[in-house]
Amino acid sequence: MIPVTKPFLPPIQEYEQYLQDIWKRNWLTNNGPLVNELELKLKDYQEVKHLLYVTNGTIAIQLAIKALGLKGEIITTPFSYVATTSSIVWEGCTPVFVDIDPATCNIDPAKIEAAITPQTSAILATHVYGNPCDVEAIDEIAKRRNLKVIYDGAHAFGVKYKGRSIFDYGDVSTCSFHATKLFHTIEGGSVVTKDPELLKRMAYLRNFGHDGPERFAELGINGKNSEFHAAMGLVNLRYVDRIIETRKQLSAHYDKFMGTFQGSKPSVSADVVYNYAYYPVIFDSEKLLVRVLDTLQQNWVHPRRYFFPSLENLPYVEKRGVCTVANSIAQRALCLPLYDTLSPEEIDMIFRIILRVQNN
Ligand SMILES: *Cc1c(COP(=O)(O)O)cnc(C)c1O
Repeated sequence: MIPVTKPFLPPIQEYEQYLQDIWKRNWLTNNGPLVNELELKLKDYQEVKHLLYVTNGTIAIQLAIKALGLKGEIITTPFSYVATTSSIVWEGCTPVFVDIDPATCNIDPAKIEAAITPQTSAILATHVYGNPCDVEAIDEIAKRRNLKVIYDGAHAFGVKYKGRSIFDYGDVSTCSFHATKLFHTIEGGSVVTKDPELLKRMAYLRNFGHDGPERFAELGINGKNSEFHAAMGLVNLRYVDRIIETRKQLSAHYDKFMGTFQGSKPSVSADVVYNYAYYPVIFDSEKLLVRVLDTLQQNWVHPRRYFFPSLENLPYVEKRGVCTVANSIAQRALCLPLYDTLSPEEIDMIFRIILRVQNN
């Protein structure tokens, strides 16, 4: 079977060495030494100022919303994973969906202004497939209209824009280290900010609001992560450059077929150092996508309709008009298998099937 992704697992001995240390220290969670070490290494790797390692990429978004004190409406993209929208609703705010740019699949900054009301407190945009949003346009609008910006960078580990980490943009940038993501710690996530005050708030919030053993600075939650998860991160970080390089080569192999494919790929700006987190294709029609998907599945290949459906269709959000582009892209987008042990021969086989169906 060829799934859409396979989690990377390092040589088990390397993980076991960390386990020996954990057993010696008997320190399993609550910001232990491995969590601290992982935070330092992640900051170094990504060249960002402040970073907190948290339970997962969803809690990361919720901590950011809470720490920024957001209220009312948050402008967001309908083309993302459900966690982007559900976090807004979970924090008692209202998502207001702005349609996407068909070329990049990211929120269209030209359509943001029209969605701003006196209730708007922030913009929460996703770097879809790790492809950076138009951060300059978004940050400019936010500054002018006095809004906060959160970037859901769940897909964007290691991505650079104009020589800087993509997590360096916005008030807070989040990432997910879930097992299916490019760099993973089994479960896990991070928040990055340049603002030391905001960092402090998020650190309180992550730890029940504790300010000392018997004092509580604010309303918090348990957003911590364990030594076992941090250990997986420390080992996987040794391999991540190699993983990205392999994915780059596999993506280039897929690219060879794109000339004959009836569809397109999201465009990535020349200013971006991409991480090859996904290999998304956008079919010319949903009908073709469904036929291709059926045939691939009959051949034990399991790509994923990602993201589908467009999030303004969620049952718990108020629908204020249709995001035409996002709906159309969501109906036609498919992420093809991509992981470090995938072979070029398997890609040949996948694309032979796609071309056979499309030319039939
Ligand atoms: C995976 C993902 C999340 C959630 O991350 P978890 O670590 O699974 O909680 C949020 N947003 C996007 C865009 C994602 O792909």
